[in-house]
Amino acid sequence: MITKTCEVCGAEFEARRDSAQYCSNRCKMRKHREKKRERIKYRPVFPDKPPEIPAESAPVECIAAVQEAHRLANDFGRMSRTAPY
Ligand SMILES: [Zn+2]
Repeated sequence: MITKTCEVCGAEFEARRDSAQYCSNRCKMRKHREKKRERIKYRPVFPDKPPEIPAESAPVECIAAVQEAHRLANDFGRMSRTAPY
């Protein structure tokens, strides 16, 4: 047995395995839920339109690259919005 500190509530507990991180199933579930919330919270949201770049302020290739990046990001955003959890 090893004495470990629970990552969630900070309580010390006796772990059977060195890899144990939580004192109880309850704390494990709580951590799980927090992780899921974080993932949703930090999910990127992209504007529907690519950013407007004044033509005179950037080379044409540069504008095209930004628009392409925006399109890819948007696709990715859509995919992660519809991804099942
Ligand atoms: Zn705990």
